[in-house]
Amino acid sequence: MFVGHYAAAMAAKAIEPKAPMWTLAAASQLVDIGWSGFIIAGVEHARVDPSLPGSSLVLYDMPWTHSLPAAFAWSAGAAILVKLLLRLPTWASTVVGLTVFSHWLLDLLVHRPDLALWPGGANVGLGLWNYPVPEQAVEIGLLAVCGGAWVASRKGLGRFAWPAIAFIGFLVTLQIVAMLQPQPAGELPSQAGVMILAIYLLVVALAGLTDLRGNKGAS
Ligand SMILES: [Zn+2]
Repeated sequence: MFVGHYAAAMAAKAIEPKAPMWTLAAASQLVDIGWSGFIIAGVEHARVDPSLPGSSLVLYDMPWTHSLPAAFAWSAGAAILVKLLLRLPTWASTVVGLTVFSHWLLDLLVHRPDLALWPGGANVGLGLWNYPVPEQAVEIGLLAVCGGAWVASRKGLGRFAWPAIAFIGFLVTLQIVAMLQPQPAGELPSQAGVMILAIYLLVVALAGLTDLRGNKGAS
């Protein structure tokens, strides 16, 4: 799952508009932001097998980001961090933590069994990637439903809908471009991690822009 993860950020923003959108976008993809950093650092490892359906990634070593205890730790850590650093209210911080955890649940749906229930333990994954068309439909469908809730909540708050719609449009474009990008077979190189991390950070920055531009009628 790639852009489908951001649907969780949109749902969270609709539920708790006090949480900044850049924080929620980063939260929904935090585990993968950490993963791309660990790929760059050589702490975690992955392989590309272009013959695989849905995603060509063979995610054989990612205990620090995608095991269940790691996902709990990243979620709790993020909730505490935003409460301390951004001084978000407790509920908004909790929503950020839950958004981080949503990543693991959505990965559980699409990944082939590569998510460890504990480091070195049994691997789980329901493998929707093996059915690429329904998998894409789920990702885009999640964006449509949760994006719709986000746009509705913005309208309720008297805010423009278009920044949210433009952001969703960007994500759909990103998904299509990523899908058409062939990956060379073999060990995933650290340069690929740099590229992936740059894309995640760009999305966080663009998500932040959707919180700007004041209310309707404001100058
Ligand atoms: Zn992931």
